[in-house]
Amino acid sequence: MRLLKEKIVSEGKVLSENVLKVDTFLNHQIDPLLMQAIGEEFANRYKDAGITKILTIESSGIAPSMFAGINLGVPVIFARKRKSLTLSGNLYSSKVHSFTKGETNDISVSKDFIGSEDIVLIIDDFLANGQAVLGLLDIVEQANAKTSGVGIVIEKGFQTGGSMVREKGIRVESLAIIKSLADGKVEFVEESPS
Ligand code: 5GP
Repeated sequence: MRLLKEKIVSEGKVLSENVLKVDTFLNHQIDPLLMQAIGEEFANRYKDAGITKILTIESSGIAPSMFAGINLGVPVIFARKRKSLTLSGNLYSSKVHSFTKGETNDISVSKDFIGSEDIVLIIDDFLANGQAVLGLLDIVEQANAKTSGVGIVIEKGFQTGGSMVREKGIRVESLAIIKSLADGKVEFVEESPS
């Protein structure tokens, strides 16, 4: 997605060979017009997939998911990382290890919101080692629902998550795929223009 790649090049900061900081438009400050375009793009790619729910994880997956939800006309559910006063019992839970943060979180979704009749689109901001997506896939499986595919804003193609999820036969649509962050520069995997 050209607009997104231009934004990554102009505003992204390469913190190391493995980590890209995009807190001017995705991870802290949010660019609503870009999120709107991203949501439209996800919706366009999955418009014929019969999606009934979007599942993401707090907090940075919520903004792109909302716009995809508006365009697909379906509810958005975010898995919670923290225990909440109002979220107790009746939960699907999974463990997600973050290599970036060096911590493991339990993520939870109320059983009220995903059921066996659902066709789910999983959306997240980054795909790195795939742990967040695997946790969300696990929750969809626990609900006996179907995952139709995964939508990722930025995939780091040099890490293992993308191939791990695709090898399970799951469709992954990433709007920007990074080939390398070496020498402080962002290099993208070439794809057909959109
Ligand atoms: P994974 O579970 O695929 O290893 O990592 C996914 C999660 O880690 C994302 O939801 C994101 O929060 C965080 N993450 C992984 N790599 C990066 C990165 O290079 N930059 C930023 N900003 N977040 C990342």
